[in-house]
Amino acid sequence: MNAQNLCRMLDELGRVSDEDGKLTRTFLSTAMRRANALVGGWMRDAGLAVREDSVGNLIGRAEGTRAGAKTLLLGSHLDTVRDAGRFDGPLGVLLPIVALAELKRRGVSLPFAVEVLGFSEEEGVRFASAYLGSEGYTGRLKAATLGLRDGAGVSVGEVLKEFLGGDFALPKAAHPRGELLGYVEVHIEQGPVLEANKLALGVVSAIAGQSRFKLTWTGKAGHAGTTPMALRRDALAGAAEFTLAAEKLARGTAGLVATVGALTVSPGAANVIPGGVLHTLDVRHASDARRKTALLRLGKLAAAIARKRGLKVAWQRTQDNGAVACSPTLTAQLTLSVQAVQGKSLALVSGAGHDGVVMSALTPVAMLFVRCRDGLSHHPDEYASPRDLGVALRVMVDFLERMGQQHGA
Ligand SMILES: [Zn+2]
Repeated sequence: MNAQNLCRMLDELGRVSDEDGKLTRTFLSTAMRRANALVGGWMRDAGLAVREDSVGNLIGRAEGTRAGAKTLLLGSHLDTVRDAGRFDGPLGVLLPIVALAELKRRGVSLPFAVEVLGFSEEEGVRFASAYLGSEGYTGRLKAATLGLRDGAGVSVGEVLKEFLGGDFALPKAAHPRGELLGYVEVHIEQGPVLEANKLALGVVSAIAGQSRFKLTWTGKAGHAGTTPMALRRDALAGAAEFTLAAEKLARGTAGLVATVGALTVSPGAANVIPGGVLHTLDVRHASDARRKTALLRLGKLAAAIARKRGLKVAWQRTQDNGAVACSPTLTAQLTLSVQAVQGKSLALVSGAGHDGVVMSALTPVAMLFVRCRDGLSHHPDEYASPRDLGVALRVMVDFLERMGQQHGA
């Protein structure tokens, strides 16, 4: 079994774009509809019954051989960021299709039903709101989301009405919780850990929780030539000291990442002492308790720096997502398959959010990470090697066979 078909499908889907010369597919755009038609055809070839739900998710289903058997969900998203690579998302949809086609070719049938899910939206590009696809599938789409507007002033609700050719009602969950075996997502790592460990694959233990803030530092602007150093209240010097303190705290705390990623200085002139600074802070950890402890510590550090420098600092929270622990049983199964194919496995935390975050509200989740070159993603140079994709394919086939035996094939 090699990954030739999978690579060809990734290439072909990578050419389905809303923009000339680069890959961009956003929620329910014309390219997304073409993508669903293309991938739907591949699903049919693999023996799946294909449908689209009311938020444009593509769903391919194979019934199990046992009557009343539960359903295993496999999937990821088919939308992309602007000027994207061709692996982030599509890999997790196409790889299960190829794995199921391989099982069909070998004459292996599974006792449980399988649904391959191609979510219509995960990246949050068009409406600046992520996970519209999985929120629809799990029945968690909120009425308020329907009012969000894109750059052209069109709302989510209007797009959905046009897509359905009639009225849109907020969807219920696609399945009752008791009907499901779990959700497994294959995704490129989007980080450098597998590459550093010289491994094609790793199994995700948890998706990190994430807090984002805007911090405003207020000091006093003044003449850069005439104000003595001892009399200054420099907001940028305070923000810089805080940035280094946050870096030091994260470097000294296992698993913690903290980033100041955007910063605005005012008035912002070469000969004026900065009177104000606005900057972001992004803090993530796989343990919610440790993230909260770190946030308390950062709050104290900022207050101490402000006091010492005669500044004011104000915090505004803009995002707060809890960590998602992956299912111990599904993760153990997946790890066995990775060990069988790769020799050893590696457990790693996902620092990025994924559809699994939303799916975990409906069913246990597990994730398989595939090494990507230089850890690069959200970029046209994003790359996973055919060899690594072949290893991932063998793991998925092995995993499905193991699950089949466990559930009485
Ligand atoms: Zn993704």
